[in-house]
Amino acid sequence: MIGMVVNRPTLSRWESMYLPGILIGLKITAGHFIDHLLGRKKVTMQYPEEKWPMPDGYRGAPTLVKDEEGREKCVSCQLCEFVCPPRAIRITPGEIPLDSPYAKVEKAPKEFDIDMIRCIYCGLCEEVCPEEAIFLLKDYAITGLTRAEMVHDKDKLYELGGMLPRPIHKWDAKK
Ligand code: SF4
Ligand code: SF4
Repeated sequence: MIGMVVNRPTLSRWESMYLPGILIGLKITAGHFIDHLLGRKKVTMQYPEEKWPMPDGYRGAPTLVKDEEGREKCVSCQLCEFVCPPRAIRITPGEIPLDSPYAKVEKAPKEFDIDMIRCIYCGLCEEVCPEEAIFLLKDYAITGLTRAEMVHDKDKLYELGGMLPRPIHKWDAKK
């Protein structure tokens, strides 16, 4: 094994008292203290009111989105349920009644739950969705006081996701 010899630095008498190092350290600390006193530099963040901005593509909590007209984009194909590695998604498919103007779409979820205790924020559900109906938020702080609260049902998922306009043509009778 080849070793490397690191020579000890030769310290002057002044340096060997360690005073320069201590004074430089104190100067840095005093600088931070004054910056903080004058409000020039923030060293703490008022979490959870303040959060770091997340970069584009950050994978946070999955949610469901509706289109501009409030229509459910999800057709309960269950691909996301199938692909979800920790089996966090549970869907009960529902049928769109034949007398509905959107009967052509055939299906919409009757129930849609995501267990946020199981979710690993992988984003596979978003990747696989053919209807662009499920999206990951940038929010990562999903909390709850009970296990039941951590299971997001359909209403909660739409409340979190809101509306996202996208060119989905399934509502168009000619397509
Ligand atoms: S982000 Fe991943 S783990 Fe979470 S629900 Fe989607 S597929 Fe499942
Ligand atoms: S969210 Fe997308 S992938 Fe999941 S059931 Fe609905 S349409 Fe299918």
